[in-house]
Amino acid sequence: MPKRKVRVRFAPSPTGALHIGGVRTALYNYLFARQHGGKFILRIEDTDSTRFVPGAEEYILETFQWLGLSFDEGVGVGGDHGPYHQSERREIYKKYVDQLLQEGKAYIAFDTPEELEAKRKEISNFQYDASTRMGMRNSLTLSAEEVKKLIAAGDQYVVRIKIAPGEEVVVNDIIRGEVTIHSSVLDDKVLYKSADQLPTYHLANIVDDHLMEITHVIRGEEWLPSAPLHVLLYRALGWEDTMPRFAHLPLLLKPDGNGKLSKRDGDRLGFPVFPLEWKDPKSGETFSGYRESGYLPEAVINFLALLGWNPGNDQELLSLDELIKLFDLARCSRSGAKFDFEKGKWFNHQYIQQQSNEEIASLFMPVLKEKGVEAPVERVATVAGLMKERINFISELLDAASFFFVAPESYDEKTVKKRWKEDTPERLTELASLLENLSDFSAENQEKEVKGWIEASGYYLGNIMNAFRLSVVGEPKGPHIFDITALLGKEESVKRIRKAVEVIRK
Ligand code: GLU
Repeated sequence: MPKRKVRVRFAPSPTGALHIGGVRTALYNYLFARQHGGKFILRIEDTDSTRFVPGAEEYILETFQWLGLSFDEGVGVGGDHGPYHQSERREIYKKYVDQLLQEGKAYIAFDTPEELEAKRKEISNFQYDASTRMGMRNSLTLSAEEVKKLIAAGDQYVVRIKIAPGEEVVVNDIIRGEVTIHSSVLDDKVLYKSADQLPTYHLANIVDDHLMEITHVIRGEEWLPSAPLHVLLYRALGWEDTMPRFAHLPLLLKPDGNGKLSKRDGDRLGFPVFPLEWKDPKSGETFSGYRESGYLPEAVINFLALLGWNPGNDQELLSLDELIKLFDLARCSRSGAKFDFEKGKWFNHQYIQQQSNEEIASLFMPVLKEKGVEAPVERVATVAGLMKERINFISELLDAASFFFVAPESYDEKTVKKRWKEDTPERLTELASLLENLSDFSAENQEKEVKGWIEASGYYLGNIMNAFRLSVVGEPKGPHIFDITALLGKEESVKRIRKAVEVIRK
C-alpha cells in the first residue's frame, strides 16, 4: 500500500464547553499533523440534536484561535472533503446504511423501547447479539413483506450491525499495542435511526474518517471500547485497507484521588478545566477558563503537551516548534496522567519571563485601566521588567506593583511598630531634603548619595532604609528601593516620604 499523506481530525461534539482534555487531544493531533507535513481537520459531530448546546461550536473555534492552533481544513476553514458538519451529511450516510443492509451486514429492527425493556427483565445481562437477535422483532425474523408493511405504516426502526460471533477482533493501537476483543462481547450496535433519519456516532464517524481520508485517529481513552466495533465496520464496508491507525490517549486524572478529571474538579480545587470561561446556557452556571485566569496560550500548550507525553528527557520548557519536532505518539503513556495544577502555574511563570517587558505591559494596561489607573505604557513596561520574576499571572502585577502607580493610603501596622523609631521622622525629613537636591536622580546616584550620607552621619543603615521603604511602598515589599524611587521620580518620591512623616504617629 502506498504511504498516504497524513490527515488527522479533531471531531468534537458541540454538547457543551470543550474540556481541557479535549484541547489536549486536539493539540496532539495538531503536533502529529505538523510533524508529518500533514493536514489537521476540524469536523463537528453534531448528529445528536438532543444534546446540542448553543454556543458550543463558537466556543471550540474561539479556543483554537486563542491558542493559535490552526486547522487546515474543516469547519470555519473549508476544504474539498466537506461539508464538515455531520448534520449536513445525512444523504452521504444513508447510502452506506443501504449498502450494509443490501449485503446482509446490517439489519432493520423494530423493537420498541418497551419491548427491549421487557427483554432486559427476562434475560439477565441482555445484549442484542447473535444469541438473542433471532428472538427479536427485526428483518431477520420477519418476512420481507412484513418489514415493508411496517415501514410503510410509519413504524420507527433502527438499523443494527450484524456482528458475527466467535471472532477475535484486533485493534492495533499505537499507544496500547494490540488490543484483542472477542466479538461475542460486542452487541449489534445501532447504526441508524429512522426517527431522526440520522446515523449514530459510530457509523457517521467511520464513514467520515474514510471519506475524509483520515490516516490516524488520535482520541481520548474513553473511545477505546468503541474501537473493535469500528474495526468491524471498516471491514463490513470494505475499507479495511485504508483503515486509519488508532492512538487512544491516556485519561486526565484528578489532582487528588484517582478518578477522571471532571468539570466540577476545577472550581472545587480552584483551577480552570476549560480553556475559556464558559457560561452554561441551561443552568446559567459559570466555569472559569484559562484565558480569563491570566494564562498565556503558550504556557497552556506546553503544560498540556506534557500531560501524557514526554520528550524522553527531563526538558520541560518546549516551544511549539520544539514540540512539533519531538512529539511521538509511541512515547505517550498508557496510564492516566495526573493533572498537576501547580505545574500549570509554574509554566505560566516561565512563559511570563520569556515575554518582553513591552508585551507584558500591553497585557497589563487593560487591567490597570479597569482599576482606573492611567499610566504611560513605557513606565508600565519598566515596572513589568522589575516585577515579572515575582509573578505567576499578569494580573498579580496589580497587587505586587500597585505602589508604582498609586501612593500608599495606609502603612503596614506591623512594620510601623517595628521600624518606625523615635528619630525616624527627623531622619526621613533629612532624607527627603537630600533627594530633593539631587540633580541626578538615577537609582545608582541616589544609592551612592544616600548611603554616603548615612555613613557620614553615623546613622544605622537598616533603620533608615526600612522606614524609607515603608514611606514609599506602604509595606515591607517590592524590588530595590532606589529602582522604585528612580521610576517614581523625584517629586513623587519626596512627596511620599513627607506624607509618611506627617501621617505616621506612634
Ligand atoms: N465526537 C466524538 C467526541 O466528541 C469523537 C470521538 C473520536 O474522535 O472518534 O469526542
